[in-house]
Amino acid sequence: MIPAPVVAERNLKNAAAFSFFIRMHVIPLPSGGGCKCAFYFTVIMIYYKDMITATKIRIYPDTKQVEKLAKAFGCARWLWNNSLNESQKTYQETGKGLGHFALNNRLPDLKKSVDWLGETHSQVLQAVCLNLSRAFVNFFERRAEYPSFKSKHDKQSIQYPQGVKIVDGRKLFLPKIGHVKAVVHREIAGTIKTVTISKTPTGKYFASILTENGLDAHAISLDGKILGIDVGLTHLAITSDGSKFDNPKHVAKAQKNLRRKQRKLSRKVKGSNTRNKARILVAKAHEKVANARKDYLHKLSRRLVDENQVIAVEDLHVKGMMKNHCLAKAIGDVGWGAFTGMLKYKAEQAGKGYIEVNRFFPSSKACSCCLHFQSSMPLKIRSWRCDKCGTSHDRDINAAQNIRNEAQRMIAAGIAGTASRGTVSQVRGRKPSVLARAVDVRSPVL
Ligand SMILES: [Zn+2]
Repeated sequence: MIPAPVVAERNLKNAAAFSFFIRMHVIPLPSGGGCKCAFYFTVIMIYYKDMITATKIRIYPDTKQVEKLAKAFGCARWLWNNSLNESQKTYQETGKGLGHFALNNRLPDLKKSVDWLGETHSQVLQAVCLNLSRAFVNFFERRAEYPSFKSKHDKQSIQYPQGVKIVDGRKLFLPKIGHVKAVVHREIAGTIKTVTISKTPTGKYFASILTENGLDAHAISLDGKILGIDVGLTHLAITSDGSKFDNPKHVAKAQKNLRRKQRKLSRKVKGSNTRNKARILVAKAHEKVANARKDYLHKLSRRLVDENQVIAVEDLHVKGMMKNHCLAKAIGDVGWGAFTGMLKYKAEQAGKGYIEVNRFFPSSKACSCCLHFQSSMPLKIRSWRCDKCGTSHDRDINAAQNIRNEAQRMIAAGIAGTASRGTVSQVRGRKPSVLARAVDVRSPVL
C-alpha cells in the first residue's frame, strides 16, 4: 500500500485580494524500486473580498408614507426618463452622451424649473443619475441591454445611498419619508450601504438593504467533497452522486389559472376600476408562481451547499438558450439562472468552492470512467453503454460525473475559480471558465 502523502504547503503571496499556495505532496514509495519517493504539486488559489450582504425585508408604510413614496417613485422615474432623453439628444447632436457628472450637474437647474422635484430627497435623485450612468457603462461594456424608459405600470423603486437606519429592530427610518414599520426577519449586521425601496405590482413594499461588514469573506477551501450538477428540464438538477431532483414546473401547473385571469383582464375597459382589480389578481397569480419557484430553489441550493464542499456546474448561457422560442418558456419556468446564482452566493457565504465548467466541455458524450468520447449522442438516448470500457451510463448522471471530474482536474491544475471570484464579467453573458486538458484523474501524477 502506498502511504498517505506528506504535504508541505507554502504560502507564496498574501495580498489583500487573494492568497496563492503551492502545495507539495511527497509520497514515499514501497522499498524495492529504484526511487524512494515521488512528489507532485498542486496550486491552490484563495480569493478574498469584503463581504457584502443583501437582505430584503418587507415594509409596511402607512397611508401618508404611501403617498410620499408614490411621489418619490414618480420623481425618480421622471428624472430617469428625462435624463435618458437628454442624453440621447446630446448624443445625436455632439456624438457623446452625458456622463455621471453631467447628469448630476443638471439637477440644480431642473429643481428650479420643476418645483415638485425638490420634494424628494436629493440623494435619491443623485442615485438615479449614478444608476443611469452605470446603465450606459454596462451597455457599452456589453454586459447589459441599452437603458430603457421606465413606465409607471412596472415595478417602482428608489435608492438611498445613505441616511437609512433601523430603529428598535422593527422600524426603518427613510429620509423625507419617516419611520416605516418593518419586519426585520434576520439580524442586519455591518454598515448599511445602499437601501433600495421597491413596490411590486401587487402593492407590496420591500426594502433591500446592502451591508458591508468590513471583514474579509471566508477563505474558500476546495478540500472536500466535490459535487457535479447537471441541470435539465425533466429534472431540475442531477448530481454526480446519482440523485435527481424534480423540476416542479410551476408555470405549467398554474397555466390554467393564469390564462383565465389574463383573459378576464383583457376584457375590462382601460382605465376602469375593475380593470385595476383584475390587474392585481393577475399580478398576484404571477407572484405566487415566482414565490413557489424561489422557495424550491432556495431549499434545494441550501441542501446541496450544506452537504458538499465544492459545487461544480456548467456555465450555461441561459439568455442565449432563451432565444429558442420552443424552449424559452420551459427554461424560464425551471429557473436555472436563479438556481446557479443561489448556489454561488450560498457557497461563497459558507467558505465553499463554486466552479463553473466550460459549457463546451462535452459532458454528455464522454464516458466518465474511461474518458472515451462517443461519436454522437442524440437527446433521445437516456442511457447508453461505453464502446471502450463497457460501463452502462445514465445520460444525466454521467454528465454530472463528468462535470465533477472536470472540476477536480481544474482544482488539481490550479485553474479553478472560487465562489468569490470577480463579480461581473466584462463580456456579455458569463465569463467562460478555463477548460482543463482532459486527463485521467485516477492515475497519480508522478
Ligand atoms: Zn468508458
